[in-house]
Amino acid sequence: MTAKEYIEREEKFGAHNYHPLPAVLAKGEGPFLWDVEGKRYYDFLSAYSAVNQGHRHPRIIKALKEQADKLTLTSRAFYNDALGEFEEYATKLFGYDKLLPMNTGAEAVETALKLARKWAYKVKGIPENQAKIITCEGNFHGRTITIVSFSTDPTAKNDYGPFTPGFVSIPYNNLDALAKELEDPNVAAFLVEPIQGEAGINVPDEGYLSKAYQMCKEKNVLFIADEVQTGLARTGKLLACDWENVHPDILILGKAISGGVLPVSAVLADDEIMLTILPGEHGSTYGGNPLAARVAVEALKVLVEEHLAENAQRLGEIFRAEMRKLQQETDIIELVRGKGLLNAVVIRPKNGKTAWDVCLKMIEYGVLAKPTHEHIIRFAPPLVITEKQLMDAIERIKKAILEF
Ligand SMILES: *Cc1c(COP(=O)(O)O)cnc(C)c1O
Repeated sequence: MTAKEYIEREEKFGAHNYHPLPAVLAKGEGPFLWDVEGKRYYDFLSAYSAVNQGHRHPRIIKALKEQADKLTLTSRAFYNDALGEFEEYATKLFGYDKLLPMNTGAEAVETALKLARKWAYKVKGIPENQAKIITCEGNFHGRTITIVSFSTDPTAKNDYGPFTPGFVSIPYNNLDALAKELEDPNVAAFLVEPIQGEAGINVPDEGYLSKAYQMCKEKNVLFIADEVQTGLARTGKLLACDWENVHPDILILGKAISGGVLPVSAVLADDEIMLTILPGEHGSTYGGNPLAARVAVEALKVLVEEHLAENAQRLGEIFRAEMRKLQQETDIIELVRGKGLLNAVVIRPKNGKTAWDVCLKMIEYGVLAKPTHEHIIRFAPPLVITEKQLMDAIERIKKAILEF
């Protein structure tokens, strides 16, 4: 079958809820992907940062295969011999009493919101059904009805109402707006991305997270960090919150927690919060399955033992410096921003050409990246990429951009 035929089959039989770039991929390894014709690409999306450890990391695949030969799913109706290891490893790594395993990022966000509400009623003493959660404009936390209820992106939200009440929205990176909302004694939590990923790698001012955290503490409000995209070494630290020494009350992880192998997500919190949910009050059939647990432990160990945060930090500096040099040579680049290997290049539309056209051109030169919104391209390669590979990829990106 040709690439065109694969694309046509998906378009004919699949829902049109995505608009993929025209690359039909068949194989991955480390920072590379290959299409059905055997052409090799640098992966600069990393499945939205799910593949921080690189495609098919040998240690993670080994853990997957070994566990697949023993036991994959029991449901939480029984104990299994793998989940406890995941819970122990992750809680010690991130410094929490407890972990609650789920599957997708959106489910983990929902879990965090449920925890915040339970805590509000059982611990903080907010009157029943009055709990409020503060969210940020431009957020992306997933696709469920509750989550899109506090989205400000019409594409994510329109025509999915009626919406879940109980959320207020404030501008991102705005402490005055946060202070104002925190005056309400019925506020249970503040939900925030340490860097807004889908909004276009919006990096807040230095001090924003630590001050916001402090303000939440003063008002007995939970600080919930959605680190589904920013976490797990992507920004040059294990968590993006580590940049400001913030230890969130509730930590949400997903994506790279399985290294791109299975849908695995997790919520971490201390007992005062986590134990407000009692047996039977929340769960998921696949959440905490032994296959996912073994994969997640190995994926986390790879991040730590291969020093992927340090690599992201070092190579991120190089990437931004090179892109800023390129910016001097062309007026199509408006701005370069990011942290670690989570970066964005903002494109100044020229002769009707947008970020999408730049991404199509990069495909020709062997680099896969995806626009977010009209004019922003996210550059987020697997964190196992070497300096030599990065420089090769940057040459290709430069050639593509200089054609505009
Ligand atoms: C991707 C993402 C989610 C949702 O994760 P899914 O696994 O797609 O449900 C939530 N929050 C952030 C910040 C994300 O980037």
